Amino acid sequence: MTEHITHRIAGKPWTGTAERTGEVFDPATGTVQAHVDFAGPAEVDEAVRAAAAAFPAWRDTSLAGRSRVLFRFRELLAQRQDDLARLITAEHGKVVSDAAGEVARGLENVEYACSAPQLLKGEFSENASTGVDVHSTPQPLGVVGVISPFNFPAMVPLWFVPGAIACGNTVVLKPSEKDPSASLLIAELLAEAGLPDGVLNVVHGDKVAVDAVLEHPDVEAVSFVGSTPIARYVYETATAAGKRCQALGGAKNHMAVLPDADLDGAADAAVSAGFGSAGERCMAVSVLVAVDPIGDELVAKITDRMRSLRVGDGREPDSEMGPLVTAAHRERVASYIDAGAEAGATLAVDGREPGIDGDGFWLGPTLFDHVRPEMSIYTDEIFGPVLSVVRVESLDAALELINAGHYGNGTAVFTGDGAAARRFTRDVEVGMVGVNVPIPVPVGYYSFGGWKDSLFGDSHAYGPEGFHFFTRRKVVTTRWPSPSTAAAGGVNLRFP
Ligand code: NAD
Repeated sequence: MTEHITHRIAGKPWTGTAERTGEVFDPATGTVQAHVDFAGPAEVDEAVRAAAAAFPAWRDTSLAGRSRVLFRFRELLAQRQDDLARLITAEHGKVVSDAAGEVARGLENVEYACSAPQLLKGEFSENASTGVDVHSTPQPLGVVGVISPFNFPAMVPLWFVPGAIACGNTVVLKPSEKDPSASLLIAELLAEAGLPDGVLNVVHGDKVAVDAVLEHPDVEAVSFVGSTPIARYVYETATAAGKRCQALGGAKNHMAVLPDADLDGAADAAVSAGFGSAGERCMAVSVLVAVDPIGDELVAKITDRMRSLRVGDGREPDSEMGPLVTAAHRERVASYIDAGAEAGATLAVDGREPGIDGDGFWLGPTLFDHVRPEMSIYTDEIFGPVLSVVRVESLDAALELINAGHYGNGTAVFTGDGAAARRFTRDVEVGMVGVNVPIPVPVGYYSFGGWKDSLFGDSHAYGPEGFHFFTRRKVVTTRWPSPSTAAAGGVNLRFP
């Protein structure tokens, strides 16, 4: 018997019979552990209607009332961090410590949203004109859609849901169909924290459900995270339907190592950021740019470290890297390794035969050296444990290479030279930059977003830009004439 996972609408599990379902795997064993209902337009409409019905009362709930729900949710989430991490590991495959880290980063966004009363203050100008005051106030949008990817099944929903509801919106969340359970636990914990029914609804499914969200006339805004082709499609479809949209896409993140860098530290960072979560992170380092003459030494240090990485079931405490999310994704990543070898890159470490028994979706850490920019292992987002080393002559050449790419999510420079780091951070055309920090995911009180094809729309996720995205400002101009002056103005057709 496999588990049955269904939608959560208006605070309750959906009781209908789905026309289509999807399989949810245990990636470490390759077995189907659950079937998840796929929503069609009717189920999405039911969820949107529940969210729309909950909106007036939630909008009218005081700022203190909304933030108290989030404070309680924060405590519940912290208490249940391990349970949520285990749920993530069971469906995604990443090791439990990494999954707990994902929940911890999500908690930051809840904590930020707890400050809603402070963050939602408006502005007031007394006596903007004689006897006239002006104030602005941020108001919620209504029903917002959140569509999330498989690789952070808790963190990405937590990038958006706390901010959206803190601002007074109601939400329809469509998590990845590959690992749908984390979103349901988050919704249950929010309900336990006192969130009224209908404020957060979870519908499962694939493109059909996404399209129904994008086309629904009562959805005011869409926050999306996923691959670049889908992000572009979601942005174009949502905005064509008159919705506000932020759509975060894929990445190909470069880590540049300058000759004066601490090479042991850089090698540790490259291995951690390249193979953590089996490379299934939008901020994973997938290209190492080695500036001459350190290439050979750096590759040797990385190779050494890779040979001792422990690949295994994410539930085992000594595993450092788990399986890939599905068999299809494993095959896709393996086919890139074939293509890289055929194109003439040096396969320094080959992960295609990781030597693990069973039918799990295993692939070992893989390192290519002497990769050239025209190879598919360089141009494409592989989203697996494959690290490519490109050798360049100088910092200028490193910048030129990185800036020629069409993605612009994250990048990092490793160096001991402050002037070189400053030059890099100023001139690199990437949205999130690390200096001796390989995965520069901004803390919760900044905002997360790439440039170029890594983000469609102009608002980054969470933090101040998240609050901006989930509200619209109203500006009110007020005059209270006193009875003695009320009649003094007269008619005046001049522009005021
Ligand atoms: P994906 O694009 O396949 O799916 C993302 C979401 O879109 C899922 O909910 C999925 O059900 C839905 N979807 C899939 N195909 C669709 C279609 N044809 N039409 C409409 N909706 C569709 O991405 P994924 O494989 O789940 O996640 C990995 C990708 O997400 C990588 O490219 C990664 O870089 C990216 N990502 C980006 C960020 C970021 O912040 N920029 C963060 C995490 C992941």
